[in-house]
Amino acid sequence: EAKKHGRNRYHFFTKDLNEAILKVINLNKEMRTALKNGDYKLFYQPKVCLKDSKIIGVEALIRWIDKEKGFIPPSDFIPLAEENDFILELGDWIVEEALNQYLDWKSKGIDIVMSINISAKQFLQNNFAKNLIDKINSKKIEPNRIILELTEYILIDQNNSVYATLRKLNKFGISISLDDFGTGYSSLSYLKKYPIDYLKIDKSFIDDSFNEQGKVFIETIVKMGQALHMKIVAEGVEQQEQVEYLKSIDCNLYQGYYFSKPIKAKEFEEFYKSLEKN
Ligand code: C2E
Ligand code: MG
Ligand code: MG
Ligand code: MG
Repeated sequence: EAKKHGRNRYHFFTKDLNEAILKVINLNKEMRTALKNGDYKLFYQPKVCLKDSKIIGVEALIRWIDKEKGFIPPSDFIPLAEENDFILELGDWIVEEALNQYLDWKSKGIDIVMSINISAKQFLQNNFAKNLIDKINSKKIEPNRIILELTEYILIDQNNSVYATLRKLNKFGISISLDDFGTGYSSLSYLKKYPIDYLKIDKSFIDDSFNEQGKVFIETIVKMGQALHMKIVAEGVEQQEQVEYLKSIDCNLYQGYYFSKPIKAKEFEEFYKSLEKN
């Protein structure tokens, strides 16, 4: 009886496993088809200056909108895309799209800084910096209007090519932002070693801004980053009290649902113009 039961369990297990594998295989195919079909969209979340509440830029965030399944969040496909190199193709599309959106807005008098998330594999490609610099030059974009958001994960691998790539981008004038700061395999030595312009404090720390210990963490990150001449960005700000608090400790910028969720380009344009009028 027990044996039979065990065997059944085993069958269930392989069935589930097979289903899981099939799902991944399908998703892999669908991800690629989606790019051909134009089912990816970039949404934009404002980056706001804490001092004067002005929008200084936006972060581009990818959305997959499938005709049948509807909205598929990036957490469901970006990790998979990274595993199988599709991120290289998708990443090229993201960069192209974000740069074109930057130019479109600029031509309409909306001159804001564009932040683009770059995955580790994308960043570690041969010639990543050169290709990006060529692209930005050919589009006649001022490099200081572009920020790349990288995670700490890229920097663990403290080899010379990471350093060389960062230096090349920095010399050209592109800014580097360290995303989700505090959640990775943080080593403080790289903060001194690498040319980093912005630190984004991860949402999990911002969530903790209502208790004393949480505040100590946030204030320490702000002070340390600013001592190293970085600007500090708080991510995932959802409440007014958090905005007041971050302002009081001289944090530089914030993003979060409190100000705006990531929205479509057209929607952002209208939002931006409506704020300009006041
Ligand atoms: P991330 O770069 O750290 O982006 C911040 C995430 O937090 C976004 O989720 C954003 O929608 C969400 N968020 C912003 N404010 C709030 C808030 O106040 N409350 C809450 N609960 N969430 C907030 P999203 O768009 O689902 O993206 C998740 C992650 O997927 C990103 O984290 C990034 O790592 C990755 N990702 C998104 N778009 C791209 C992309 O174009 N390229 C690459 N390589 N990765 C991307
Ligand atoms: Mg980001
Ligand atoms: Mg982040
Ligand atoms: Mg985060």
